[in-house]
Amino acid sequence: MVRVRYAPSPTGTLHIGGARTALFNYLYARHEAGTFVLRIEDTDQAREVAGSAEAMMEGLRSLGMKWDEGPDVGGAYGPYRQSQRLARYREALDALRARDLVYPCFCTPEELQVVRKAQQQAGKPPRYPGTCRHLSAQDMRARQGRPFVLRFRLPEGGATMVEDLIRGPVRFEHAVLDDFVVRKSDGMPVYNFAVVVDDHDMAITHVIRGEEHLSNTPKQILLFEALGFPLPAFAHVPMILAPDRSKLSKRHGATSVAEYRELGILPEALVNYLTLLGWSPPDQEEFFTLDHAAKAFTLERIQHTAAVYDQKKLEWMNARYLRELPVADVAVRVRPFLTALGIDPDRPQERPEATLEEAVELVRERSRTLADMAEQMAFLYRPVTSYDPAGVKKHFGPDAAEHLQMLAERLQRVPDFSPDALNALYQSIADELGIGRAILIHPTRLALTGRTVGPGLFELMAALGRTASVARLRRAAADAQMLAAAPSTP
Ligand code: GLU
Repeated sequence: MVRVRYAPSPTGTLHIGGARTALFNYLYARHEAGTFVLRIEDTDQAREVAGSAEAMMEGLRSLGMKWDEGPDVGGAYGPYRQSQRLARYREALDALRARDLVYPCFCTPEELQVVRKAQQQAGKPPRYPGTCRHLSAQDMRARQGRPFVLRFRLPEGGATMVEDLIRGPVRFEHAVLDDFVVRKSDGMPVYNFAVVVDDHDMAITHVIRGEEHLSNTPKQILLFEALGFPLPAFAHVPMILAPDRSKLSKRHGATSVAEYRELGILPEALVNYLTLLGWSPPDQEEFFTLDHAAKAFTLERIQHTAAVYDQKKLEWMNARYLRELPVADVAVRVRPFLTALGIDPDRPQERPEATLEEAVELVRERSRTLADMAEQMAFLYRPVTSYDPAGVKKHFGPDAAEHLQMLAERLQRVPDFSPDALNALYQSIADELGIGRAILIHPTRLALTGRTVGPGLFELMAALGRTASVARLRRAAADAQMLAAAPSTP
């Protein structure tokens, strides 16, 4: 029975790297009809951020991931917060102490710093020199009452192999490891120790996590062996890099799940995209649901090289979800984004003819995100208060005021306000005036929306409706006249 876990440290928000690790664990559990465990690794209180664990759980839930066991849902292997398992770590440490596999180290941070500096100057990697490894009983007594950490007694010589399911065997010479700390001077276990006790006690069969933890794995394997625990399988998932192949960071744009939500990236699109960051389905299909991915998900198909994050592709995927989800569903989701713009679609400043769903239909072909969609729809619900300056320059020329005024009069009278009828009307007016339609269409768009680009003009006009369209054209006629009269600024 497969049991996997996602084990975040609550030190911030849920980022795409963590979300992807969670996702791969979740998909693997689902594929194997196994169990997905959520464990909060909160033993490093100095780094803990209040509310972070809850925010991370909320982030995972928003992406559609459910865990079978965890701090909120419980389970047979709890508690699932490390801060509530301290007695168990103590017990495991005592077992190692009894067998002299760990020892107290009284070196102060300052002393260790001096050693590290010297190593650095000699061009050597930082390594604990074993100062307290062989303290006699007398040495110990002399140090009684001083703070100490517990260190693991690394086997002398030899190497530890990590049989990684993704990378194959990776060998770590013990000469490059050192007697690492397992318990801090405040009595708290370090990550490498607590994780081993928990992965064993929670009967984890597969440890699937980011590659940045690969160098921890030999230490953990040594601890599994020292504690007499059988080893789980390990699978280290390649990193996610920025497009320039540097480490992904804030400067590359949004990277947290909450930020994507604020931008109006749909959770369906985000999980779909994240799943493809390092994995590909056998059918090479790019668009799929979590369920579909779970059916196909195997560790063999995780790629061996770093995945490159590409926000453009994410937005492109999102745009397709926006086009293809049921319109009623999109309408519900775009509401908060309209609210953020100060628009209440139920009590608009201007009442369009179109329903919210029709408004979604109008703009969704050209929307990348929900925020973008709301921006594009906003003209329907509130008056135009400014015009795109480049558009003014181009389309509010000397004849514009007269054209806009004339269009307003004709639109007031046209019996049918459907896109087809409006299209025919514009054609006949252009013919009467002996000008191209574009000369009427561009200023009309600017008058109705304040913008130079957007949905098809006749569709948007029909959606806006006769009353608002006519009023905006009249107003724009006056504005265009004023703008034409004003001395032009260079
Ligand atoms: N708490 C660790 C982290 O957030 C988890 C590492 C692991 O999965 O073993 O990076």
